[in-house]
Amino acid sequence: MINYVAPIIVRHGPGGVNPHANGARRVVDAIDGVPVTALLERHGSPVFVFSEGRLRAACRRVRAAFAAHYDDVQLAWSYKTNYLRAICRVFHQEGSWAEVVSDFEYEKARNLGIPGARIVFNGPNKSIAALERAVDEEALIQVDHFEELAALEAIAKQHSGPVRVALRISLDAGIRPVWSKFGFCLENGEAMRAVRTIAGSRGGLQLIGLHCHIGTCILAPEAYANAVRRLAGLAFEAGAAGFDIEYFNLGGGLPSGSTLHGAVFPARQTNPGLDVYARAIGETMSRETRRLRRKPRLFLETGRALVDDAGYLLTTVVANKTFPGGNAPAPSAWDPKGLVAPPSGTPVNGVIVDAGVHLLYTGAWYRFDVLPGREIAGPDIPTKLCGCLCMNIDVIREEVPLPPVRPGDPLVIHPVGAYNVSQSMQFIAYRPRVVLIDEQGGDHVIREKESLDYIEEMERLPAYLRCAGVGDARGAGRSSTGNDHE
Ligand SMILES: *Cc1c(COP(=O)(O)O)cnc(C)c1O
Repeated sequence: MINYVAPIIVRHGPGGVNPHANGARRVVDAIDGVPVTALLERHGSPVFVFSEGRLRAACRRVRAAFAAHYDDVQLAWSYKTNYLRAICRVFHQEGSWAEVVSDFEYEKARNLGIPGARIVFNGPNKSIAALERAVDEEALIQVDHFEELAALEAIAKQHSGPVRVALRISLDAGIRPVWSKFGFCLENGEAMRAVRTIAGSRGGLQLIGLHCHIGTCILAPEAYANAVRRLAGLAFEAGAAGFDIEYFNLGGGLPSGSTLHGAVFPARQTNPGLDVYARAIGETMSRETRRLRRKPRLFLETGRALVDDAGYLLTTVVANKTFPGGNAPAPSAWDPKGLVAPPSGTPVNGVIVDAGVHLLYTGAWYRFDVLPGREIAGPDIPTKLCGCLCMNIDVIREEVPLPPVRPGDPLVIHPVGAYNVSQSMQFIAYRPRVVLIDEQGGDHVIREKESLDYIEEMERLPAYLRCAGVGDARGAGRSSTGNDHE
């Protein structure tokens, strides 16, 4: 008897059949001259590593690209993209202001010595206390909604002189889906209503800036030109309402070297390049703002494009595994007993590493490069890269070509500098050290590995739960064995 085998469709993972998806094989055996193996030895595995040289170079490249097309440009470092103090300090040294999106980030910038007047204050949930402080310290407050506008009007009544504010504008720049969460919608008239509200504050508030943040990893430079045109139209109308707009702020969104999962080619081969963005924005700014009474300054809140490529996660192979291949169909109506043999499929080669998706939040959208941290002989094999968490979803890459790595072999995951440190979570394991390599090749710890004390410091054990007995509820009152912190 010949068994009937039902046909199945196997979905190929990103990078599976496409020989170009990962680019040519490379090895990253050193970062800024410091051997990967030495970094792992000194700081443990896994470890985040940042290159100061790359941070500074990226910042200078963005500044130079925009300066070539517009003569009044100011960067404001997007704290949420990575708010470790050492990283922020490098960007501030390079001349960036701070861009913050919460009370916490505002405090962080002030704590690092940034004056209020060099802070751009965004975010949909600014407390009254933070708004009062920001007004006192002359921060650039970018208003998100009518409730915030009302709060600022109330604050302005206690204030000598007008409170200077900017409006966050959501607009259709041609990017899908439209990011409509931030600010006042241009297309439905809300933005103009906000301008009129400010005009109606009888000198309490003064409108000085317009802001938009159209998305992240914007691969179409023309979208920014669209945004500038729309903001310029609004600025012209605001002019009629009596306001001279001093600045346009185009938010962030410039792409880094990160490749989106669905992309055919790696980003480093397809990104349009900074100059194309700078030209689209700068030339449109110059042209479209000519009819305004003053030439506005251009702010950029570039996040990922400055920090992503400077960040690496070094990790170590823990184990090799072979996963069963194929997608076996579940027993179905026509084969309720499951008599039909499932398709065998080719087994999938896998490895477990000591880092996981709790450290790599952006892996949900981006296909990281995973490269050997030293030369490893042998042909590349499609490999499923699994993390250290006891979670089935903890897969860093469904399929990535790797040479035949063994336990103990170092791997380098890149680029991971944007968002992954600030969004990483403490879950199951301690979050690792973060290290900065300075421009002379010295390595510095900029965030320590977490410890049990650090994690439990915020916990409270109520008195009635203090007995240390295991499975013995009557043990209350027995001497503690050290679990008790109070
Ligand atoms: C997150 C954010 C940025 C930075 O965005 P990138 O895409 O990383 O450049 C800039 N501005 C605002 C308001 C943001 O929320």
